[in-house]
Amino acid sequence: MGEKQGHAQQGQAHADGSPPRPVDKTNEYIRIESVTKRFGDFVAVDNVTLSVFKGEIFCLLGGSGCGKTTLLRMLAGFEAPTSGRIFIDGQDMADTLPYERPVNMMFQSYALFPHMSVEKNVAFGLEQEKLPRKEIDQRVAEMLDTVKLGDFARRKPHQLSGGQRQRVALARALVKKPKLLLLDEPLGALDKKLREATQFELINLQEKLGVTFVVVTHDQEEAMTLASRIGVMDRGEIVQVGTPTEIYEYPSSKFVADFIGSVNMFEGRLIEDEPNFVRIEAPELSCTIYVDHGISAPPGAAVWAAIRPEKIEISREEPAGKENRARGVVRDIAYMGDMSIYLVRIDSGKTVRVTLPNSVRQLSERISWDETVWLSWDSSSPVILPQ
Ligand code: ATP
Repeated sequence: MGEKQGHAQQGQAHADGSPPRPVDKTNEYIRIESVTKRFGDFVAVDNVTLSVFKGEIFCLLGGSGCGKTTLLRMLAGFEAPTSGRIFIDGQDMADTLPYERPVNMMFQSYALFPHMSVEKNVAFGLEQEKLPRKEIDQRVAEMLDTVKLGDFARRKPHQLSGGQRQRVALARALVKKPKLLLLDEPLGALDKKLREATQFELINLQEKLGVTFVVVTHDQEEAMTLASRIGVMDRGEIVQVGTPTEIYEYPSSKFVADFIGSVNMFEGRLIEDEPNFVRIEAPELSCTIYVDHGISAPPGAAVWAAIRPEKIEISREEPAGKENRARGVVRDIAYMGDMSIYLVRIDSGKTVRVTLPNSVRQLSERISWDETVWLSWDSSSPVILPQ
């Protein structure tokens, strides 16, 4: 079922109003063509076709075991596809060994040499290439400056914080001036605060150096922050590719909607299907769902209506109109600082999740536990997905 309404286009601002990260779609750098990887009978990567453009931060996002590391290892040349082809910068990589590829890979463990100082760790790859000493020293110093580790050059890895070690690994990978950097869960070892700061550093660095990044992560927040585009993987397949906004606002399946952020899913049946609106009968609600755009599906089709928690309003007063609403009782409230999560049991017994920003401190007026409330949402908010 393809939706008729226009999806978020490349270049559209993010939902939070921040500008999009630009992607030059005329400049294809990686082309993965019908690539499958089998280990015995097991299909780890299943017929993946994908383009990554020059200067992108492309995130491969998916749950454990979905095949993202295997795909990354095939780009690096550590695994060969069972079938299909991989092109980097227009060149078929079939017969190109890992060290001959314009690629560097940063491993999850960082794999630093513990007995070597920071500058020796960073210089190692250049020394292997037998570059002149003067050039090595200059490039290492420049790179340590870029990752803000100039003052730490003489330290050993165990004398650094997790974030600093991560930057050494990054410097070691970047000093060789790869055109493509592959990062496997690069920030996995960092705590939340450091991870966030490092994500922004990584973006700045990538923008400054213009290297193309392919990042593997299972952390959807990380993918949303870092990526110019995200490829969501499930059981070896790429199930959706898009900008963070497209993936969040217009998931193409229940799997993607569920995987990225929280979502309320209502099972339903299409009872009216016009070019510019649809109506869905949803037994879990005591009203129909009205959606202000058409979808391509036959009348009577079984669908899911997905509504994000922040797109639902909660009030004590009964909303006007007879559609897109539900009555319920507040069963739980979680105060998260910047926002609160309300779990509301509606009349059918289903629990609906609603989030409210805590932008103002109106403690006395806040809706509280066990209050009867009305939930409502705009007709543009539900995303209709095939069952
Ligand atoms: P995680 O986030 O847990 O690292 P992933 O998405 O990166 O997961 P992969 O490492 O690509 O997953 O593995 C995909 C599947 O292929 C897994 O089920 C894994 O067990 C299997 N697999 C990976 N490498 C091999 C191998 N050398 N031999 C057999 N099976 C393998």
